[in-house]
Parts: sequence; structure tokens; C-alpha cells
Amino acid sequence: MFKGLFSNGGSARNAVASDSKGPHDKDGASARDLARRQLVDDIGAFLIANDLEISESNLAAALGICGGSNPALARRYTELRATGNPVTQAWLDEQLRGVDDSIAKIADKLDRSLESFASTSRDARNTAAQYSSEMQVHADKAGDEREEIRNLATLAMAMLERTQHLEQEMHRSEREAATLRRSLAKARRDADHDHLTGLPNRRAFEGLLERQYLEANKSHDALSVAFCDIDNFKRINDIHGHDTGDRVIQAIAGALAKISNDNCHVARHGGEEFVLLFRGLDKAEAVLRLDDVRETFAKRNFINRQNDEPIGQISFSAGVADVFAYPSSRDALKAADVALYAAKAQGRNRVVAAE
Ligand code: GH3
Ligand code: MG
Ligand code: MG
Repeated sequence: MFKGLFSNGGSARNAVASDSKGPHDKDGASARDLARRQLVDDIGAFLIANDLEISESNLAAALGICGGSNPALARRYTELRATGNPVTQAWLDEQLRGVDDSIAKIADKLDRSLESFASTSRDARNTAAQYSSEMQVHADKAGDEREEIRNLATLAMAMLERTQHLEQEMHRSEREAATLRRSLAKARRDADHDHLTGLPNRRAFEGLLERQYLEANKSHDALSVAFCDIDNFKRINDIHGHDTGDRVIQAIAGALAKISNDNCHVARHGGEEFVLLFRGLDKAEAVLRLDDVRETFAKRNFINRQNDEPIGQISFSAGVADVFAYPSSRDALKAADVALYAAKAQGRNRVVAAE
């Protein structure tokens, strides 16, 4: 299995197709089952061989490469392997970010085209309107003259009508362009926001972290980062259902969003995990700020809105790290994650500072 994918470059599907002897093997598993097992094995082998974390985005990337659903990524992976370089987390993140960046570039291009269309169309419409009113004056004057002149005037009037029609059409196109532009702005906002909580998503947070890192570094401001995770959340889903779980995620998002301002940014990192960036606060100060939210939140009593059953108290744990204590913002985020796991290990419902 491992050989098929990593040595001779054949895809998981190919490997299975040539191994499979018929519709069912001796255990009764169908070729489809075998193919699926093979794919799961390949994904696991890919992550382990490249020493990659088992995260949502790495799993998606592994599926894209091993399962063939992301041929562009699979191609870049093959090219990288051909150079003899290893796959690193940084390389993979770069590839995945590349996709988002190309979407942003297309949006920028469309935006610029709309801008130039709007100004061209405005000019054309204004010229048409001006032409139209001048023509109207001449046609009105010509109305009193001889027969041929009257004929010419009729022709001029027909032209005038067409110009006016064109003017209206241009106006309509401009309105449509404005609508398109609003949709584009919304698509951009959606790409940066999580729809369940309305908070910025992981992608937006990563961009923000990069920008704040440079700015705070320049102005010598403290910068700290926190990772939060809801405690025993699986149990809430299991007992009260996924919809109630979603509302719990929204409630925590709301509580964290309350402390967000120009110097405190909150985002949903994924699942039931949140990240925060504190500008101007060091690790110890950020721990205090976040601990306030934790303490207040953990005192609340929740009720399942669907059946009025008590859910009880819900808490979260967090880890906080000073960004500039690490070689990169990515390492700081990792340190906050490690501190979060220390908070879990120490009994949950607490905020722990990174070592
Ligand atoms: P721990 O205290 O160790 O964090 O325990 P936990 O049960 O919270 O464990 P973990 O953080 O690993 O649980 C994550 C669970 O969150 C698994 C997944 O089913 C659930 N989950 C992830 N995203 C969503 C979501 O958008 N909605 C709901 N309802 N559940 C989600
Ligand atoms: Mg979790
Ligand atoms: Mg959890």
C-alpha cells in the first residue's frame, strides 16, 4: 500500500484496482470496500510518513492527494517529491493558502473590471444624454421648415429615440454592475467569516496574525495569542444533539466576541475551537482577560431550548502564549495549543500560560 503511493507514484485507486481479484475477496469485502480501506490506509501513511498533524485541513489535503480529488495539489506534491524535498507543514499550508489567494486575485480582477465598466458606462451615458438633448433642440427647430427638412427631422427623432433607449440600457447595466459588486463584497466577507458564529474564520485569523505580527514588532507592542476549546463538548452533542451543540458554540462565540475590540481579535479556528489575538497585552495580562470570560461563562446554567431539559454548566479551557517569545507566529500558536492541552490535563475549565 505504502509502496504504491509513495514509491512508484501510482494512485491509491490504481493500487486497489490491480490488487482486486473480483467483486469480493475471500472475506466477502467488495472491491469498493477494499478501495475505501486502501484510501484510508494511504491517507494515514501520507500523514505519518510526512510527520503531519492529524488536523482537518491536513486530512482534506491528504484526501485530495491520495484520493485524486485535488489533482493540482497532487501534481505539486509529485513535483516536490521529484526534487527530493520532504513535505512539511509549512509547504502544505502554503499550497492550501495559494488556493485562497487565487480566489482573492480573481475577485480583485473582477472588482477592477467592474470599476472600469462603471466609469466607461457613466461617460457613455452622459455623452448620449448630452447628444440627445442637443438633437432634440435641432429637431424641434427643423419642424417648421420645408418638406425635406421635416423628413430629416423625422429621421433625427427616430435616432433620438434609439439614443434614449441606449441611455436607459446603459443605466440598467450600471445598476446590474452595482448589484454584482455588492455580491462580490458579500462573497469576500463570507470567505473570511464563519457562518455559524459570524466570527472571522481561521483563514482570516491567519492573515490578521501575520499583519499584527509585523505591526506589533515594528511598534514594540506586546502581542499574545490564545487557543480555546470547549470542555467535554462531545458529551453535549451526544446527550442533547448536534443542533444544541451548535447553539453552545454560538454562545461561547458570543461571550468571547464581547471582549473583542481593535486590540483583541476573536476567530473560530474550526469545530469547537477558538483563537484570540491580544495586541498590547502580554501573556499574563491576556490570561487574566480571558480568565474573566471563562469564569463568567462557567457560572451560567444552560437549558436545552428544544425540550427544556437542563444542560447545566459549560466551560472551556485555554492556553496563552507570548507571540514574540517564539521564532514565528505559527510557533506561538502551537505553544498556545500545547498550553491548552496542559489546561485540559490539569482538569479543564482553566486558562494556562505557555511555559
Ligand atoms: P475536551 O474537553 O478534551 O476538549 O473534550 P471534547 O469532548 O470537547 O473533545 P474534542 O474537543 O475533541 O471534541 C470535539 C467535538 O466537537 C467533536 C465534534 O463532533 C464536535 N464538533 C466539531 N465541530 C462541530 C460543530 O460545528 N457543531 C457541533 N455541534 N459539534 C461540532
Ligand atoms: Mg476540540
Ligand atoms: Mg473540546
